[in-house]
Formats: sequence, C-alpha cells, structure tokens
Amino acid sequence: MDMNHLLPDSFISSLKGIQGFDENAFIDAHQKGHGQTSIRINPSKASFNQLSHLPFSHQIPWCENGYHLSQRPSFTLDPLFHAGAYYVQEASSMFLEQVLKAHAPLQESIVVLDCCAAPGGKSTHIQSLISGDSLLVSNEVIKTRVSVLAQNITKWGASNVVVTSNDPRDFQRMGAFFDVIVVDAPCSGSGLFRKDPDAITHWNEDLVQMCASRQQRILQDIWPSLKPGGLLVYSTCSYSIEEDEQIIDTFITQTGAQSLRVETHQDWGIVETISPMHAAYGYKFYPDKTKGEGFFIAAIRKVEDHQPTTNYHHKNHTSSRSAKQTSLLKPELFDKWLC
Ligand code: SAM
Repeated sequence: MDMNHLLPDSFISSLKGIQGFDENAFIDAHQKGHGQTSIRINPSKASFNQLSHLPFSHQIPWCENGYHLSQRPSFTLDPLFHAGAYYVQEASSMFLEQVLKAHAPLQESIVVLDCCAAPGGKSTHIQSLISGDSLLVSNEVIKTRVSVLAQNITKWGASNVVVTSNDPRDFQRMGAFFDVIVVDAPCSGSGLFRKDPDAITHWNEDLVQMCASRQQRILQDIWPSLKPGGLLVYSTCSYSIEEDEQIIDTFITQTGAQSLRVETHQDWGIVETISPMHAAYGYKFYPDKTKGEGFFIAAIRKVEDHQPTTNYHHKNHTSSRSAKQTSLLKPELFDKWLC
C-alpha cells in the first residue's frame, strides 16, 4: 500500500523538529515497509532449538529471547504458540528489557506493577526477567481487555503473576507498595501506522492532546504506589513530543523524579532524546532507523525525600471506575509480599 499520501500533513508537520525525525526517510519507511514480525521465546517453556519450525531471521540485539522472523507464519496453527512457548511481539517494545536490566534489582525479590497490561506483551516479558520469588501484578482497567490478558498470562504459565482490573488510582489503597511500575500508556498510536494503516484515519491533534492528558493522569494516580527509590518506566507507541518527552518533563516538574539513562549501541539505531525542560533521557524508535515500529520509553527514579512542588493529587478526583470494580483489588491477595 502506498501510504505517502495517507500520512496526514498535520501529522508530519507535528513531528518536525523532534529529535531523530527525518521526514523523507520516515515517509519512505512507511511507503516501503509493513514492519517485521518478531517473537519472544518463553525461556521457562522452550528453547530456540525447540522452535526450529519458525522462520527465524536474526536475534533482536536488545532482547535475549527476541527474534525477527523472515515471514509471518500462521501462528494460530502452531500448538506451541497456544502453549505459550513464545509471544508474538513488536521488536522495539522489547527494549523494556534493557531498561529493567539497567535500573531494576532483578535478582532480588521485588514487586512489579504493569499498570496498563493488556494484551500482555510487557507483562510476559517482565515475568521472564524477574526472579521466581518476585511478584508481578498485571493490571488492565478496561474490562473487555482483561480476558485476553488473563489468557496470555495463563499460557505463559508462571505462578508469580496476579491479574487485576483496576483504575490506576485504586492501587493507592496499598500505599507505596511497588518496587517497579511500568506504565505502557494508552496513546495516539502513530508508532503503529505501518502495521495498522487504519489507525492513520483516527489520528488528529485533539487525539494527541486527549491522550497526553490521560497519560499525565495515569502517572499522577499511580505515583503514590511506587516505593521511594523505586523505578517507573513510561512508554508509548506514539512519536508525538506531547505524549513522550513533554509528559516526562511535566512529571519531573511535579514530582522531582530523577531521569535515568540507558545504554544503547549505535548500530541499534535507537535515538536518545533529551527533553526540552529537564534534559530527561528518552529512547525513541523510528522505523527508518531501527528494525521495529515506533516506540518511546523513558525511566525515572522516585527521589526519596522530595516534596511535590504542586498538588498533583487531584483533590476532587473521582475515579472513573465503579465501586464494584474497585473492590476487585483485594490487598490480602498481596499479604505474602507485605513486610
Ligand atoms: N502493555 C500492553 C502490552 O505490552 O501488551 C499494551 C498496553 S496498551 C499500549 C495501553 C493499555 O492501557 C490498553 O490495554 C488500554 O486498555 C489501557 N488503558 C486505557 N485507558 C486507561 C486508563 N485510563 N488507565 C489505565 N490504563 C488504560
């Protein structure tokens, strides 16, 4: 499909000046490519050799168990897919592994929250990286998306994952409980335009602003649940600065959180961005530079003794979730991890 004239001018204009954006190469990548298929092996169930029926092309350099495939097989016909031996996942988002390996105490017994988890790509990945005596809470607020998340977590087959369906704000009832929180936020989705050209028709500047407000709200709501010194990972599949670098800037202003750097290799093609206000690090994936789709990820640390400069807890905030749904979060489920 020729997507040159499908990418709206307003979209291209909005990206001009963003670090790493190369208009011609970007448009070219959208015209030529439909993206690559990639998978991540479940190391507790299968090895590379046991999956030799898959058309492996090469390893994804930032993910130990991630591989590009040379073509897309019929996964639904593969019993090992249904058995959770691997997960079909876009390659750029597997960079989460580098962020966690660099900044999370993965060898220790920790409690991790995947705040926006369905359908389970990041959660299955996190589960493969944490220790067996750690706990992953895999949360998805949208009811209709929880069953697919629960299915994927069940197929993955680990016992140290709990699936919840709560508004991020509900977790405040547990206090500062989590060592690591991952917010893979709902976004305007421009990073997936190559794979899902239909999404282009839904993109507009109002959508970006709406997503940015929601992203800020999610971060504000979940922040009290992170332990002092804990790690928050924020990601989107949007290129827009309003949903990426500016979100991190606003959040650092509000919370005094510390931006964290992640090592990358030049030949990976990942762009390290520096936010305009606080010079915070971000990692941006452009399809003309990396073998993957559009993605942004940033890591920040909760500073132990910071007093918020603004009252970022909405005083009159009322959760969009009903009391019934809120009651799904049962702190006693987590008793084992409470000291
Ligand atoms: N992390 C997932 C993965 O890797 O498979 C993808 C997550 S997707 C980018 C964002 C998720 O956020 C969606 O599942 C969406 O339902 C959820 N979401 C939507 N509105 C939300 C809100 N207000 N608070 C928290 N999550 C929300």
